[in-house]
Amino acid sequence: MNRERTFDLLIIGGGVIGSSIAYHLANDGFDGRIGVFEKDPTYERSSTVLSVGGIRRQFSTEVNVRLSKYSLAFYQEFGERMETEGGRPEIDFKPRGYLFLGSEKNWPILVRHQAFQKLLGVETQLLNVKETLQLIPDLNTEDLVGSSFSAGDGYMDPHSVLQGFVKKARHLGVEYIHQEVVEILRKGDRLEGVKTKDGTTYVSSSIVNTAGPYAGEVGRMAGIEIPVVPVRRMVYLVKPSRLFDYDLPLVIDTSGVYFLHEAGKQILTGKSRKEEPPGYNLQWDRTYFNEEIWPSLGHRIPLFDELKLMSGWAGLYEMNQWDFNGIIGEHPEVRGFYMAAGFSGHGFQQAPAVGKALSERIQLGRYETIDVRPLGYERILEGRKVLEEEVI
Ligand SMILES: Cc1cc2nc3c(=O)[nH]c(=O)nc-3n(C[C@H](O)[C@H](O)[C@H](O)COP(=O)(O)OP(=O)(O)OC[C@H]3O[C@@H](n4cnc5c(N)ncnc54)[C@H](O)[C@@H]3O)c2cc1C
Repeated sequence: MNRERTFDLLIIGGGVIGSSIAYHLANDGFDGRIGVFEKDPTYERSSTVLSVGGIRRQFSTEVNVRLSKYSLAFYQEFGERMETEGGRPEIDFKPRGYLFLGSEKNWPILVRHQAFQKLLGVETQLLNVKETLQLIPDLNTEDLVGSSFSAGDGYMDPHSVLQGFVKKARHLGVEYIHQEVVEILRKGDRLEGVKTKDGTTYVSSSIVNTAGPYAGEVGRMAGIEIPVVPVRRMVYLVKPSRLFDYDLPLVIDTSGVYFLHEAGKQILTGKSRKEEPPGYNLQWDRTYFNEEIWPSLGHRIPLFDELKLMSGWAGLYEMNQWDFNGIIGEHPEVRGFYMAAGFSGHGFQQAPAVGKALSERIQLGRYETIDVRPLGYERILEGRKVLEEEVI
């Protein structure tokens, strides 16, 4: 028997982006029934729980700085905001700062970005070599001229953040439907609903695509080309021969390798592989660490010449091949089709602000808190790119 249910708004993808949108809509007084489809309630393969959970305000475009600024303040109050009768979520936020290391080559870029960030109210500091060494005494600075440090940025447990959003959204009346959407029903430029794998039809004229790495596929279900593809990223957990007796900030080396402290003072590290082909590949391999990451780690911190690779994992970036930034807003022709996808490695940190922005767009028809129009789908149709120089 084919079943049919009716909603006022349907969200496809219950990761951090979809759940933040659901929470913000409900919290901002959305008058109607919201359904969130999530095909994998364990979230085992979702980008959110496989992310490193970092948040930084060091970006080179205004919209990205503003999104992270709003989101940082939000995450600082996450426990209070997400509290329910079941308690407060603990997201283990570590505000140790982000430290971009500067060589002769990238120093002028860091200087330019720092001045820009300052204009937007972010107190990024330029540190000379001596000051950088005060933060990390074990650093090899022979090829460095300084660093750029944003105190207060940091990282947290993405799984707890996601659970916090989901619980609070449900508490506010949002329904999570553990089904895979396989079809979007569209007549001309009007949306009529979706169909799930079990054959149920969900009627709605408003649909939000927050399917993360699957956003391109979900777009195609509606006949809309969204240039988002899955691209594997690997993370490695290593144990150095001597554990530091101080806390590291999240460091971005000039080689592109990043590293930070994990529980027990182990080190979490990774580096985006430029030539990684698109695909749903979650295979984790050690070779990439041995060949591409370890040499850079050992160069930057000689102590890392000796370490034990403990474990790691692979997750998927939802890569926007157009310009490596989020695509946020309503489709200009297919009204009622909203999207928030393609964050290309910086979606976790932007989730609170993206949720707020889409809640405003859906309920008020405009953005009030942050103007995310530069990230609208229109830019793809019009051939405009948002050129963000600080994509990790
Ligand atoms: C290794 C790694 C490290 C990262 N580190 C950071 C970081 O430090 N900081 C940062 O800001 N970002 C980081 N990111 C990026 C970040 O994880 C993503 O930008 C963010 O999690 C995207 O959230 P999402 O909700 O869009 O996607 P997801 O979490 O993937 O959620 C999408 C959900 O949609 C569901 N879905 C898909 N299709 C369907 C369908 N047809 N029907 C029903 N459900 C469906 C999926 O099951 C999935 O759960 C990292 C990513 C990786 C892989």
